[in-house]
Amino acid sequence: MVRSGAIALIRRFCLECQGASARSVRSCSDARCPLWAWRLAALPGEAPPAPEARHAARAALRAVRRQCMNCAGNRYEVRACQARESCPLWRCRFGVRPQTYKAVRRRFFAPKALRLF
Ligand code: SF4
Ligand code: SF4
Repeated sequence: MVRSGAIALIRRFCLECQGASARSVRSCSDARCPLWAWRLAALPGEAPPAPEARHAARAALRAVRRQCMNCAGNRYEVRACQARESCPLWRCRFGVRPQTYKAVRRRFFAPKALRLF
């Protein structure tokens, strides 16, 4: 089964990192990279590092967040990242699914009832 979501985005990111060479992604030796354990997880027959699919999806999002923090330096710079068109990880850079992020933002900025006491 070909995986989707953050796991698929990690695969795209790794391929870009290694000049589109699947072989180089497989032999990548940078085990300190937050995505290293996930670099093959999108491939059929490869197991993600986390045991359950539901948890694997969440753990992959956290790995993306760590990568973005390494890349940008801090959470403010991750938020301000302009690589929407060029970086495969951009839509998951907050470490949650894009739908979740939008729902939280909507709740946060929704008009609040005025409390007088
Ligand atoms: S694990 Fe990190 S260093 Fe290795 S290919 Fe992926 S992004 Fe590049
Ligand atoms: S989304 Fe932005 S912060 Fe995250 S890895 Fe890509 S360029 Fe870096």
